[in-house]
Amino acid sequence: MTSSFHPPQRTLMGPGPSDVSPRVLQAMARPTIGHLDPVFVAFMDSVKELLQVAFQTANPLTMPVSGPGTVGMEACFVNLVQPGDTVIVCRNGVFGGRMRENVVRCGATPVVVDDPWGRAVDPEKLERALEEHPQAKLVAFVHAETSTGARSDAQLLASIAHRHGCLVIADCVTALGGIPLKVDEWGLDAVYSGSQKCLSCPPGLSPVTFGEAAVKVITGRSTPVQSWFSDMTLIMGYWGSAQRRSYHHTAPVNALYGLHEALLILREEGLENAWARHRRHHLALKAGLEALGLAFVVPEAERLPHLNSVSIPAGVDDAKVRGRLLEEYNLEIGAGLGELAGKVWRIGLMGHSCNLTNVLRCVGALEAILESEGAPIATGVALEAARAAFATA
Ligand SMILES: *Cc1c(COP(=O)(O)O)cnc(C)c1O
Repeated sequence: MTSSFHPPQRTLMGPGPSDVSPRVLQAMARPTIGHLDPVFVAFMDSVKELLQVAFQTANPLTMPVSGPGTVGMEACFVNLVQPGDTVIVCRNGVFGGRMRENVVRCGATPVVVDDPWGRAVDPEKLERALEEHPQAKLVAFVHAETSTGARSDAQLLASIAHRHGCLVIADCVTALGGIPLKVDEWGLDAVYSGSQKCLSCPPGLSPVTFGEAAVKVITGRSTPVQSWFSDMTLIMGYWGSAQRRSYHHTAPVNALYGLHEALLILREEGLENAWARHRRHHLALKAGLEALGLAFVVPEAERLPHLNSVSIPAGVDDAKVRGRLLEEYNLEIGAGLGELAGKVWRIGLMGHSCNLTNVLRCVGALEAILESEGAPIATGVALEAARAAFATA
């Protein structure tokens, strides 16, 4: 390509990235300054404070690591898991599977507690696994399983783990900003998230937070963390006290401007209001999709508001419908992952993408395309159902 790249203006209603607010994009276009410039060092403290608000934590070790959510995941595992440890991994979708991979690569033994894809993690199964494996040191689970749309009870799972003397690693990549998440109140020891889901930033940053007990494990390790880049004892010198900041790697300066702005937007709206907004638009989308005749994969009580998985009607060409949505409506929805590939669509309502215009656009576009593809859906009722549900939600 010999000319500038101008991407199309899409509406992003998949599993992430979500639509980015113009405020965030404008913030990212501000001048790049040195990452050890005193002005930038003070700004980093502001990012940390805003993240503490979003995570509902007073943990001093709260910061965005430089990399996508997967790097935050890796940072939690390589720092807390030592060779020879036993780690209980709750797996009810793709990301639980990746947690297991991380445990293995840390030289530890995973004990997997499996639940069906599309269901929450079963607390009783976790309890039993902990009874059977008293040597376990850690429990890892996904709060919001974006691969299926299931929400697990993070508070309950953490309390069970703690009762058995285990620390907790929680994947809150899509939970942050979308559903209630209270790191301190729930006692989550290590949590990672991502910038491009309900925070509505471009991808590339992973907010993490470590509680006191987790920090004790990290600083008391008998073996060094095998990843130099993700070693928190080194990163603490960079993101820690502003007085003693020393070079570790070059932080993605402009990406952090974006995250800061997104966190400001979240604080202006208020966490409770943001959670309520996701729920209200989910109810409108649900009413519209169900009026079309599309069925949700996850039982109602375990559903995420910001990731809606629905079964693809029999005889409908998955890729063709998604292709037409993108081409004709500039609308992106997500495909199924793993064992749900080809069986479901994943419709995201995350952060800046979570608004009534998008709900109606998605329901209307799906109706038009499914009708023209000859799918057995109800027509002429879905938009009104979504609007009515929104009005009464
Ligand atoms: C998106 C996601 C990740 C991975 O984040 P990346 O930014 O793609 O690396 C991990 N866990 C969950 C639950 C996610 O939704």
